[in-house]
Amino acid sequence: MKSVIELKNVSKVYKSKKSIDTLALQDVSLKFQNSGMVFIVGKSGSGKSTLLNILGGLDSVTSGNVLVEGKNLSEFSTSELDSYRNTYVGFIFQEFNILEQYNVSENIELSLRLQGKKQKNTDVLEILERLDLSGLGDRRINELSGGQKQRVSIGRALIKSPRLILADEPTGNLDLKSSKQIFDILKNISREHLVVVVSHDMESAKVYADRIIEIQDGKVISDTKQGDDISNGEITLIKSKLPLSYAFNMVLSSLKVKPFRLFMTVLLTAISLVFLGVTMTLQMFDQNNLIINTMKDNGEHIYELGKTEFSLLGDNDMVLDIDDISYFDSELRTSLNLVYRLYGDGKPLSFEFGEHEGNGYSNYFYSLDPSNTLVVDVRDDRILGGLIGRKMNASDEIVVHKYFADYVIKYGIKSEEDLFKPNSYEELVDSDKYVLLGHNKLKIVGIIDDEDSLYEEARSSEFFDLDDDMDLYKCFKENYASKGYYIYTKEFIININYVDDLEKAFLNTNYVVGVGMSFDNLRLSSGNIEISRNGKTLNRELDEGEIVLSLDSFNSGLSFKNSFYEFLEQNKDRTYNDVMSEFASNYFNENFLDKEIILYDTQSGEEKPLKIVGLSLSDNSFISDKYIKDFVPNKENIVSVKVYEEDESVLRNVFSKFLFRRQFNDVIGTYYTFSVINSDKLFNVIVVYREVEWFIVAVCMVFLLFAFLLFSNFIGLTISNAKKEIGILRAIGAREVDVLKIYGTLSLVIALVSCVLGIIGWLVVCKIINYSIFGGLYFKLDGIVVRPLVVIMLLVFMISVSIFITVGSISKISKIKPIDVILNK
Ligand code: ADP
Repeated sequence: MKSVIELKNVSKVYKSKKSIDTLALQDVSLKFQNSGMVFIVGKSGSGKSTLLNILGGLDSVTSGNVLVEGKNLSEFSTSELDSYRNTYVGFIFQEFNILEQYNVSENIELSLRLQGKKQKNTDVLEILERLDLSGLGDRRINELSGGQKQRVSIGRALIKSPRLILADEPTGNLDLKSSKQIFDILKNISREHLVVVVSHDMESAKVYADRIIEIQDGKVISDTKQGDDISNGEITLIKSKLPLSYAFNMVLSSLKVKPFRLFMTVLLTAISLVFLGVTMTLQMFDQNNLIINTMKDNGEHIYELGKTEFSLLGDNDMVLDIDDISYFDSELRTSLNLVYRLYGDGKPLSFEFGEHEGNGYSNYFYSLDPSNTLVVDVRDDRILGGLIGRKMNASDEIVVHKYFADYVIKYGIKSEEDLFKPNSYEELVDSDKYVLLGHNKLKIVGIIDDEDSLYEEARSSEFFDLDDDMDLYKCFKENYASKGYYIYTKEFIININYVDDLEKAFLNTNYVVGVGMSFDNLRLSSGNIEISRNGKTLNRELDEGEIVLSLDSFNSGLSFKNSFYEFLEQNKDRTYNDVMSEFASNYFNENFLDKEIILYDTQSGEEKPLKIVGLSLSDNSFISDKYIKDFVPNKENIVSVKVYEEDESVLRNVFSKFLFRRQFNDVIGTYYTFSVINSDKLFNVIVVYREVEWFIVAVCMVFLLFAFLLFSNFIGLTISNAKKEIGILRAIGAREVDVLKIYGTLSLVIALVSCVLGIIGWLVVCKIINYSIFGGLYFKLDGIVVRPLVVIMLLVFMISVSIFITVGSISKISKIKPIDVILNK
């Protein structure tokens, strides 16, 4: 019989930092044959276990060589040592070292699995029978006696049929009867395998041993039978390979061990992921995304382009000229529907409606009269949408929005002869009556019907309190009433007639600067007026460079008010009107009289310097007759362009080129701008986002950290708690990657479950926020736009964390020798 293992002058020194080094083995030379039962005996601390661990590749030698079938163990790599243990060696420990969370069969199968072999049920059953464990396959480990546990560990060693079985005090924790049974089994096995038993039990050694090696102070002091010369046989090493599915099963059973801690971790991680998801969603907020999403949700396909001047004094819509239109044309390459505001002698043309009935409004729905008329020259019929009636065919035919029609039905509209007050939409569109826009006679032939149920609901709603519900009112105004401003025409603008009444012309959108204050919407009149100047009253025509300011135009200023109240206090005994007119005239003389101001027409961009020559106590300021004709002629201004677009990506592209009509104060200059229905409300949302931006970043970081710590702590703890288990796995031949596979799967499973829960929670929270904050409006607004990118980012985050943590913890443990891991050193 040839020897298979040889120890040549093996010494082992345990280095110690604190005390002196221990010489555990000294110059030991031994040869082992390929079968038989060898006992290594000696006193405690003599070096028996050290010898055994060296044989099993669990520990390394300090000097000398261990030859296995002629190959030197010291030259093996870590992975070859893993394979050596996996293929060649079966361990039996005093402490059993079987994995508590798996049942008997699973423990036995595991070592077979690690060889990448498909487990055959019959093999396991055969082993169970051979070890007198029949019927206990499904038992949990903690339901077994010590003897049974040790038999399981023998089964685990035996099933892979190793050449070498190493048993370290296998009966040390057992009673006599069990001990005898174990030794009987080992004796039995030793007919085909080399069984090396470490024991201090000399009696058993005498009964069972084929050879007894006695050790004392790390030296062999007696050996009953030396082995033959070593054979140079083949040693085939199988690389351990744990199938992922098995790893998964192992994970599932280990998850059952601490269900409460697991549950809490998953729950808390999921909750912090919910917050992380929400803050990330807010963080990723994109203005155009919100706008496009809102358009989509509300079935809106129309946006408007214009030109806006943003200045410190406020925003002004500019008139578009032919260059602007050709720019839009080249950028958009789609039909542009130009929107005009018509002026007759400086006054915007509007329809006139019948008087409101009774006091105030019986229903807020009809409180906004659609007289701020804008004329759309329709080039793309799609902007009309669904119609009651028909499209316009002639230049005197128009289509109006449903709100306009409802208003006409409610109050009537001025027509050629009288007030036209139809009873129904049908009557309105079928009628031959012409309605008046300035001197233009127009026939309403169609009504745009959005078929919006909220619109119908709004129409039938009761009166509501404007003070209480300003927000809803504004929203309603922008969403519905403002649509009533537009009338849709075909080639109408060219045939426009203007009014010729010059008496009360006024400008709506101009302002005056130059005297330390600006005047918005100064109403200008011309003609013969009464001028108050330095207490004297004149009555004359104004020259071209003169202006008379109305009391109205400056008496609302704060400095005026403060000084006025002071003055009023000093003149308590006089009448209010008296005091007011004296104060106003003093204030005016001091601050305004003979000063120069610039009148600026935002429609045309024209500027005109004017001298303030007097004060008028009427509502209107006055300029010269001649000048008002220059300044505010009959004209049609292109105020915006309506465009129909369904394609989201086209919208995105357009919106990225232009500025949103509503902007922040920090934008100054003149820009092309876009707007959509509900711009105001959307802008409010954008403002909120902008204000909490940094706060959101901070919160996002906190939750990121929290989720990371919570999760990594659990995984780190689970792995370090499983240190012994990992050592056992390594001892029976699992490689580092196998261990990684198991714990990687474990942390991935937990990560994914938390992530899925987190994502569901995130969706729910977003829905709730959208519903509770933006739910009560007259259009759908999801202030929080849910983005798929968040799902991807959460998944990537959790997967990377779990990989990072697992690899980190496992590789730390793997650096330690398996035997130290098992012994928890
Ligand atoms: P036995 O198995 O015969 O009781 P061991 O082989 O366990 O003896 O120990 C031999 C000597 O080596 C003892 O003095 C022991 O304290 C020491 N020893 C064993 N393992 C270590 C270790 N990992 N580090 C330091 N000293 C050790």
